[in-house]
Amino acid sequence: MKPRVFVITGPSGVGKGTLIKRLRERIPELELSVSATTRPPREGEVDGRDYHFLSPEEFDRRAQRGDFLEYATFSGNRYGTLRTEVERTLAEGTSVVLEIEVQGARQVRAAMGDEAVLIFIAPPDPAVLRERLVNRGTDSPEAIERRLETAKQELEAAQEFKHVVVNEDLDRAAEQLIAIVRSELCPTLRPADDQAQG
Ligand code: 5GP
Repeated sequence: MKPRVFVITGPSGVGKGTLIKRLRERIPELELSVSATTRPPREGEVDGRDYHFLSPEEFDRRAQRGDFLEYATFSGNRYGTLRTEVERTLAEGTSVVLEIEVQGARQVRAAMGDEAVLIFIAPPDPAVLRERLVNRGTDSPEAIERRLETAKQELEAAQEFKHVVVNEDLDRAAEQLIAIVRSELCPTLRPADDQAQG
């Protein structure tokens, strides 16, 4: 089975992280690419596991050196996918998942074309994003407003992507995501085989 790059994108607060967790529980051989960021760690986040936390200077140095497959500024901080993360995983014959915002997803599409499978996660209703960001409790009210401003533009990008999963009901959205990933990994798999593996 040829290893693939799965790009999961969509607005902040839409539930990308939770859906990816479900996806990896069901398809454990998928690796998650650890991104680099200039955002300070949140409580409980571990360097090298959740992100590679870099100073702005280090991030720029790496960007100039061409270390990133894609990178973007989001809500005042920079985020980027290190080429080494993706290349190492693919070289091992393992598929990799990127959880990134929309500008970065577009860059991956431009760089990799059909090699990358792009999946957009959309909220059932934009109001849900505010609720989720407030409940998550990791961002200040100002940061939430900035993220929601960006989300408006990001939602318009949904139609650019091959697959769109609406996260209204978490279980259903997770099943849809798992089905997309399975069919891309193994296009000839019939639904019955899929169940049998499940
Ligand atoms: P957070 O600060 O909530 O961890 O992430 C903010 C946004 O940046 C989220 O939409 C997340 O998916 C995105 N993000 C995380 N890593 C990367 C990356 O490597 N590249 C890009 N372009 N976006 C990323």
